Amino acid sequence: MVAEPSGGPTGGEGEAFVGTASASARPALFERYPAIAGRLPRIALVAGPTPVQRLTALERRLARGPLWAKRDDLSASPFGGNKPRKLEFLLGAALARGARTLVTFGGLGSNHALATAVYGRRLGLAVTAILVPQPVDEHTLRNLRALSAQGARLLLVGNSRGAVIAAARACLEALVRDRRLPYLIPPGGSSPVGTLGYVEAGLELAEQVRRGELPAPAAVFVAAGSCGTAAGLLAGFRLAGLSSRVVAVRVSDALRVDAPAIARLASATLALLRRSGAPVPDAFQLAPADLDVWDGYLGAGYGHPTREGDGAMRLLDGVEGLTLDRTYTGKAAAAFLDAAAHPEWREKPLLLWHTGNSLPLDGLRVGGR
Ligand SMILES: *Cc1c(COP(=O)(O)O)cnc(C)c1O
Repeated sequence: MVAEPSGGPTGGEGEAFVGTASASARPALFERYPAIAGRLPRIALVAGPTPVQRLTALERRLARGPLWAKRDDLSASPFGGNKPRKLEFLLGAALARGARTLVTFGGLGSNHALATAVYGRRLGLAVTAILVPQPVDEHTLRNLRALSAQGARLLLVGNSRGAVIAAARACLEALVRDRRLPYLIPPGGSSPVGTLGYVEAGLELAEQVRRGELPAPAAVFVAAGSCGTAAGLLAGFRLAGLSSRVVAVRVSDALRVDAPAIARLASATLALLRRSGAPVPDAFQLAPADLDVWDGYLGAGYGHPTREGDGAMRLLDGVEGLTLDRTYTGKAAAAFLDAAAHPEWREKPLLLWHTGNSLPLDGLRVGGR
């Protein structure tokens, strides 16, 4: 596998606001654990709590109880989805460490590489993206073009071995140019530092439940690739005392997606919080049995479309106007719809976590912001 950044609290910098003008006030994590605010630097990108939306037309169509969506597709502008939440803490750590270059990894059409290039560049950081093959469709090509238009340096490699070699070379180049090492971000941004963004998101949903914006979902469906999203939600829900079950829908065969891997990342993120001064008791632990991984929606592999995924995309677009994608959110939605139709879940509130960007990419021009 590729190198992991050592992560960790870096101290000193506190919070910087360079995101959208309306970027959120104090994050729930810092409200809850004031001691960590100075030690886990964050760059505000996410403009306040993302909306929760009741899918009433879909409920009528399926003749069943409450269905909800969490609209993280609207997390940030000009590029939304789950990656800006992770980048809030990743970019904070990179700046605190004095890095001038970010090196990261993804598939050819990686949302993560694109989000890193968009928001890294706003901070004046150079971005190198090391890209591995994935099935090429229109969406992949659009992302790749947008990535290249951001001025990111692109290194195409054949496999994860090639990625390690390219990363070593990119580190050397950055060392020569910047006189310091780059900040390495693992695939999908799913280091413990990046995962903090979804602990924050988990606390955010719990707060929306507390305020009565939606009932506590019986289960929350989320696409899982590098697993930081599912791991962070699991940790955030449990810290907040929200009982919703996390159902991680496996969409990758290139990365390990199973309950032990997700529980381990969630635990590593809790350990980071403890090291940074959050009074999370040692007795508070997360185990594989605390979540579910649904395995039946991957199809032929990462980025390969499935009939169920495509059907779910058409239904949610037609009935609710939600824009989903074939690699991640369409497959998560297929699992969500199966659960919605299942007698066991029929009356219970279910939530689909929309992790994709739904803003048009033409906002991302060269030299644009
Ligand atoms: C990256 C991504 C995911 C997967 O999130 P992980 O934290 O990597 O599991 C889900 N949906 C979309 C749209 C993504 O870009």
